[in-house]
Amino acid sequence: MKVGFVYDPIYLQHDTGQHVENASRLEAIISHLEQTRLIRQLTLVKPRAATIEELTLVHSEQHVSHIQEMVQKGGGWLDPDTVVSASSYQAAIYAAGGVIEAGEMVMQGGVDSAFALVRPPGHHATANRAMGFCLFNNVAITAEYVLSRYNLERIAIIDFDVHHGNGTQEIFYDNPRVLYLSTHQYPFYPGTGALDETGRGEGKGTTVNIPLPAGCGDNEYLPVFEQIVGPVIRRFDPQLILVSAGYDLHWADELAMMQVTTTGFAQMVKIIRGLADELCSGRLVFTLEGGYNLAALATSVKATFDVLLGDTSNIEDPLGKSPHRLTAPDITSLLKVIKEMHSLP
Ligand SMILES: [Zn+2]
Repeated sequence: MKVGFVYDPIYLQHDTGQHVENASRLEAIISHLEQTRLIRQLTLVKPRAATIEELTLVHSEQHVSHIQEMVQKGGGWLDPDTVVSASSYQAAIYAAGGVIEAGEMVMQGGVDSAFALVRPPGHHATANRAMGFCLFNNVAITAEYVLSRYNLERIAIIDFDVHHGNGTQEIFYDNPRVLYLSTHQYPFYPGTGALDETGRGEGKGTTVNIPLPAGCGDNEYLPVFEQIVGPVIRRFDPQLILVSAGYDLHWADELAMMQVTTTGFAQMVKIIRGLADELCSGRLVFTLEGGYNLAALATSVKATFDVLLGDTSNIEDPLGKSPHRLTAPDITSLLKVIKEMHSLP
C-alpha cells in the first residue's frame, strides 16, 4: 500500500501562544513518526496554498477577507476560542490546500490513501464564521473541489472528532451529494449534532448524527461503527471517503470525557478502511482535526498510518486503557433509535 502524508513547517507558524491547539501537536506527531521510522514507509505530499476561488467554494468572500484583515493587523481573537497570528492566514490556506492535494493524489492514484497532517483544523468553520480553533473548513473545501474537478456524484465525510463538526454539517446540510456522518460527545461544544438533525430539502437523510453520552470507550464506539457507520456508508455508496480525524476522544485528552484507546482508534480506522476498499477502490483521505494530549495524539495518528499501510502487527499502545474506571454508559437503546431514524436494519 502506498500511503501519503501531507506536512509542511508552514503549519507550525500558526502561532496560538499558550492555546491548547498549538504547534507542539504536529511536532509531536512528526517526531513520533520519525522515532518509530514509520515515516520512511510514507510518501510525502507537498501542500500548496488554496486559491481564493477554492476557499470560496464553501466560504463567503467576507469571511476570507475578515481573516486576511485580522492577520494583517498582526493577529487577534476571532471568537473566544480562536486566535490568529501574523502567519496564520498563510498556514490556513496551506492547510486547505494540503487537504486538496491529498485528495488530488488519491484521486489520481499517486497514493492509495493519504493523511493530511495540517493545522489550523477546520470542521467548526462555517461559511461565514471562524470558530472552535478553525479558520477555513479544510475537509469541506476538499469535498467541493473533488466533486467538481472529478465530476463525482457522492462523497462521504466521516467525522470522529469528539466535537460535532457544525461547520461541515451546515455547509452540506441541503446537499445530497455529500453525506456527513459524525460521532461526537453530546451534549457538548458546539451544541449542534442532535439526532434529529438529518439534513434539509434534497439533502434530507444525508446528515447522520450519532450523539454519544460522555464516558464511551472502545466497547461503545466499535458497535457504533459496525452497526451504524458501516450500513450508512454502504447505503450511500460513496466514490471517495474523507475523514475528519480528531483524536480528542482518547481517554487521556483533557478537552472531553470519552474513554477511547489508541487500539480503539486502530479498530475504528480498520472499519473505515474496509468500507473504502469495499466501496470506492480504497480511496480514502484523512485530515487532522482535534487531539490535544500529545502522547495520545502521536501514538493514535501512528496507529492510523499502520492500518492504512495494512500492517497492524506493530501497533503500540503505551498509554493503554483508561485508569479512571468510569462506568461506560449503556447505548443499546440509543443505537436502536438511530437505526429507526435512518431506516437501518
Ligand atoms: Zn475536537
